[in-house]
Amino acid sequence: MPAGPRTPRTAWVDTLPSSTGAAPLPAGNFSDWLRAMRAALAGGPGMDVACGECVGCCTSSYYIKVRAHESDALRHIPPAQLAPAPDEPGTRLMGFDAAGHCPMFGAGGCSIYPHRPETCRTYDCRIFTAAGMEAGPGRTMINERIARWRFEFADEDQRREQRAVQAAARFLRQHPVRFPGGHIPARPSEIAVLAVKSYGVFLDGEPDHATAVTGIVEACRAFDQRAG
Ligand code: SF4
Repeated sequence: MPAGPRTPRTAWVDTLPSSTGAAPLPAGNFSDWLRAMRAALAGGPGMDVACGECVGCCTSSYYIKVRAHESDALRHIPPAQLAPAPDEPGTRLMGFDAAGHCPMFGAGGCSIYPHRPETCRTYDCRIFTAAGMEAGPGRTMINERIARWRFEFADEDQRREQRAVQAAARFLRQHPVRFPGGHIPARPSEIAVLAVKSYGVFLDGEPDHATAVTGIVEACRAFDQRAG
């Protein structure tokens, strides 16, 4: 979520068309980004995103997860703004107002920025560009941003990595994949995250359906175990 500027790079490659014709934004080297994103999802440092003036993720009707161990964030968010997450015991959700704004968002941006939850620290809308998808209906500001990002690729191996991330996301969108506990991912954000966790299954092309399902579930389980 909104942070400091990044150094621009060259050799942009189109992924999604911008409906407004707004100028492209350099998203950085794809493989560098992919490794940083995976590290962030595994609990490492948050992502450094050149948000500029964009506040799309704080104003787009997102529920923000705040996990039990996030004592700093929990100290800075009024308890009345938090409700138990139905599918994750111990985790709480922060909702949004009638305009879709996070309750911690104000005229000056995030009012608890140094104490914001991990969900906000790891949020990086380039994940949708990487996965070749939008953030969902009604998320106009974010979708415009997604369409403007341009990754750079040093070689064919890096392009192959992005094709694999996109193939994983496409498979998850087109086929119901049931994860342990019975959950079938459907939200764009969780599909993009799962694609980043499991893209290795698609690096050598798309396997048959059963192999893809098993591979995705196993890759995500192994990723989360390593992270834990
Ligand atoms: S806590 Fe801060 S960074 Fe996170 S969504 Fe709310 S306003 Fe944005």
